[in-house]
Amino acid sequence: MSVPYYRPIQREVEVFEHAYRNQLALMIKGPTGCGKTRFVEAMAAKAERPLVTVACHDDTTATDLLGRHLVEGGDTVWQDGPLTRAIRQGAILYLDEIVEAREDVVVVLHSLADHRRQIYLDRLNETLTAPAEFMLVISFNPGYQRGFKELKPSTRQRFVGLSFQYPEPAVEAEIVAQESGIDLAMAKRLVAFAGKVRNLQEFGLSATASTRLLAHAGRLMHTGMPPRTACHVGVIEPLTDDDDIRSALQDTANLIL
Ligand code: ADP
Repeated sequence: MSVPYYRPIQREVEVFEHAYRNQLALMIKGPTGCGKTRFVEAMAAKAERPLVTVACHDDTTATDLLGRHLVEGGDTVWQDGPLTRAIRQGAILYLDEIVEAREDVVVVLHSLADHRRQIYLDRLNETLTAPAEFMLVISFNPGYQRGFKELKPSTRQRFVGLSFQYPEPAVEAEIVAQESGIDLAMAKRLVAFAGKVRNLQEFGLSATASTRLLAHAGRLMHTGMPPRTACHVGVIEPLTDDDDIRSALQDTANLIL
């Protein structure tokens, strides 16, 4: 299993490894596109465990995660959901955007995240205990305003916590160069542009220029797209539909690129 490229930012690798060794669940907070998923992918590969990822949304129920009976050619067969499968495999289970999921999902996580490390499958009348290799990792974006959803203290206190942010400019440029193939000088300019966008609070953007978007723009440049165009389609368009904000952001990009 090859380990995906992940550039450590703080002490997150060490934290993950200690949490894993102690069979503690981990929560990762941070804005979209700052490297949470890549980090978990790299950690799972390093631990040589399969990774099961679930992107939670407001329709995600406990049944979706645990499993359900399906009718197959006249027979009723049980099908494990991703959470149950991950426990049976001793996988790393990554629940992305957990705050979006329905309340019954959070209830299931309680017995899994604490010392019991168990789930109860009521349809099968079976209690499943996670093996030592299993680890639960959840993530969410604390700055996300829509819905004002939050995890309850009783849930949060079952996890070890890590906060992610966009890395400092020199490190972020290194990541953008590595991920896209553009040279470091150009990656630094992209990061400088992102820095300006991130400071423009007055536009009220719901998300900002993430490392992911910079890597996209870099990849477009790497295959020959002019930098300003790459910035426009790779960063600005995904951020906003507002004409005035788009042109203000493009003016900013044009000064740097
Ligand atoms: P999130 O899960 O936080 O939304 P991702 O993990 O998908 O974000 O990161 C988006 C992209 O940003 C990745 O595909 C990768 O190209 C890049 N990236 C961000 N941070 C890092 C990092 N520390 N090391 C390597 N790549 C990173």
